[in-house]
Amino acid sequence: MSTADVAVVGAGIVGLAVARELALRDPQRRVVVLEREEHVGAHQTGRNSGVVHAGIYYAPGSLKARLCVAGMRELAGYCDAHGLEYERCGKLIVALDQGELPALDELERRGHANGVPGLRRVDATGLREIEPHAAGIAALHSPETAIVDFAAIARAYADDLREAGGEIVTGAAVEGVEVRAAAAESPAVARIGADEPSPIAVATSGASPRRIVLRHSRGEVVAGFAVFCAGAWSDRLAMMAGAPADPRIVPFRGSYMRLVANRRELVRGLIYPVPDPRLPFLGVHLTRHLGGDVLIGPTALLAPTSGRRLGATLCWPGTWRMARRWWRTGLTELHHAVSPSALTRAAARYVPELRPGDAEPAWAGVRAQAVARDGRLVDDFVFSHTERALHVRNAPSPAATASLAIAEHVADEAERAL
Ligand SMILES: Cc1cc2nc3c(=O)[nH]c(=O)nc-3n(C[C@H](O)[C@H](O)[C@H](O)COP(=O)(O)OP(=O)(O)OC[C@H]3O[C@@H](n4cnc5c(N)ncnc54)[C@H](O)[C@@H]3O)c2cc1C
Repeated sequence: MSTADVAVVGAGIVGLAVARELALRDPQRRVVVLEREEHVGAHQTGRNSGVVHAGIYYAPGSLKARLCVAGMRELAGYCDAHGLEYERCGKLIVALDQGELPALDELERRGHANGVPGLRRVDATGLREIEPHAAGIAALHSPETAIVDFAAIARAYADDLREAGGEIVTGAAVEGVEVRAAAAESPAVARIGADEPSPIAVATSGASPRRIVLRHSRGEVVAGFAVFCAGAWSDRLAMMAGAPADPRIVPFRGSYMRLVANRRELVRGLIYPVPDPRLPFLGVHLTRHLGGDVLIGPTALLAPTSGRRLGATLCWPGTWRMARRWWRTGLTELHHAVSPSALTRAAARYVPELRPGDAEPAWAGVRAQAVARDGRLVDDFVFSHTERALHVRNAPSPAATASLAIAEHVADEAERAL
């Protein structure tokens, strides 16, 4: 058993940023991170498009808008100060026809309202000056949108945390959560897999100070407060700590194709479609990565990663309501996922010189997306509380971009609750 002032569950980019922030704010504070995998950044943090978003898409006033714009600024400064690669390659959001112009107008309005630096509208000629091989009748150009290696940034956060006296325990999967008075006997521990809220938060009572106990595969941590940043597992851990089931995480598999080396010059920076404004996904895009690769993707295929996850996903009423609403989109995504040439053809609408043989299958990542009971894909970041704990319950894109700003937001809330 070990003790800590704050325990953070999950060593993805969000958990590490939060732990780092909490440790840097108070050198006396003992911060411990528990991570189920053997190394940090193993899930979404290590498998994404690597794009530092500028804040164009998000509803003005939303957490995503505020934390993305602030997070991008802070991340640029952080990479600069730590010698981490940060390449401002710029991004185009391209309208292919007149029908997409109203949605492009709305993105322009949002981008300006959110304070996206340097954002401007270009016509077909301007678009081809930036991306000579791209098609389209108009576009938004965001010159400050950048590319990075989020896994390398997460490792740098981990180094900062250790230097500040914090500890990261890997191979430590949290399996039980309980809250109890410091000297109380152990009540029953809620287990992973419970589908209903644990009674612990309401069942426990008694003298202060109360502590949160995290039982994990390598032991137990007793902490004054816990922050859960568990990505795809965030709903299960929140429920274990006594939170309601709504919203649940539904995993979407995003696979990518890679342009063969002699076709990479078709894309200079980042080419994105005008997304469906009703969905939190940005659509299949072409992204240059550090090191020169150009990727096409990701798809967004509802794809539970294990039997237990499949059961949880299918039991959630929101999954079925979402499926009823989005079945057409789901079929297109399935087509992209099973047919690499269909994915390349989708990208060729934006870069017409692309041929099916120009791209080969690359890798895939799994997006943790919260889905509400009514079937709504939850758009904004979601944070919630249970006794002695804060839960990051929805941190999809642009949470990697916004990680430093999310960390400040969460640390403020945690300090208020501590
Ligand atoms: C395909 C794809 C493309 C994306 N593109 C971008 C992009 O271009 N720009 C951008 O800003 N964002 C992007 N995102 C989103 C971004 O990657 C995520 O928002 C971000 O990585 C979330 O970080 P996280 O720390 O919350 O989650 P994760 O990185 O998933 O980390 C969660 C961690 O919690 C650990 N954990 C879970 N359960 C337990 C447990 N019981 N005990 C201990 N540890 C546990 C996991 O092992 C994991 O390491 C993309 C995501 C995907 C999947």
